[in-house]
Amino acid sequence: MTASLLRAVESAGAEVGRHDTLNSESAYQTTALADTSFLPGPVLLLGAPGVGKGTQAQFLVNKYGIPQISTGDLLRGNIASGSQLGIQAQEIMSTGRLVDDNLVNQMVLNRLHEKDTRRGYILDGYPRTLEQAHFLDSTLARLSLAPNLPVVAISIVVAYDQLLKRITGRRVCPICKSIYNVHSNLPTTAGRCDHDGTHLLQRPDDTEDVFIERMKTFNDQTAPVVAHYRNLGRFEEVDGDQPVEAVLADIESALLSLRNNSSLVSATSN
Ligand SMILES: [Zn+2]
Repeated sequence: MTASLLRAVESAGAEVGRHDTLNSESAYQTTALADTSFLPGPVLLLGAPGVGKGTQAQFLVNKYGIPQISTGDLLRGNIASGSQLGIQAQEIMSTGRLVDDNLVNQMVLNRLHEKDTRRGYILDGYPRTLEQAHFLDSTLARLSLAPNLPVVAISIVVAYDQLLKRITGRRVCPICKSIYNVHSNLPTTAGRCDHDGTHLLQRPDDTEDVFIERMKTFNDQTAPVVAHYRNLGRFEEVDGDQPVEAVLADIESALLSLRNNSSLVSATSN
């Protein structure tokens, strides 16, 4: 397992809390019934830290009624359930080593056999390396798991300076977890939560130094995976510097166009 995956697992608790807060506070939460007229298939959602990937993934999950598959969740789930793979992962991690690609691949493979993936799924944090991408593509082609569609990748892109503002400007209420931003989403009273008046805090990780490090890791790891799906004609970028509903609409039209293009090329023909 890569260092960043380990970090993703460690910070996943905080991430989950963050998404819950975003969703419960969001006026855009999808409450309508899932759209079952379109077959989304496997969708890899990519995005640098701060682009709003978690929020968009949740929208797509609600919209299409498909699961989100994240390697952090899989690893925690396997360990918690005491599965064979979970026991192996725990043994490796207890000696300070990193869980390797093979173990992560097997966990994903097991997950793809579950029934809720039949109409598609959102892949989050996987495939993270070129080796994982090759494994996933060849496995999907070999197993012909329904839906028999190839992976398409959609990247949410926000300019570097804009992302920096989003992250270093972020302020959080320690009580109700509401999120503000000193550049774009100020509370009514400076430095105080609108709901409970609590003094807002900046998370220790929301600094420029941490951001630069995370961006470097993200770019290094994502570049080969992006190039892989771009070369296969299964990659689209969407502008993440818009209101969340507009980003969602762009993701949906990108997905539609990728599926129209790739419908002629089934996973089995690769
Ligand atoms: Zn609050």
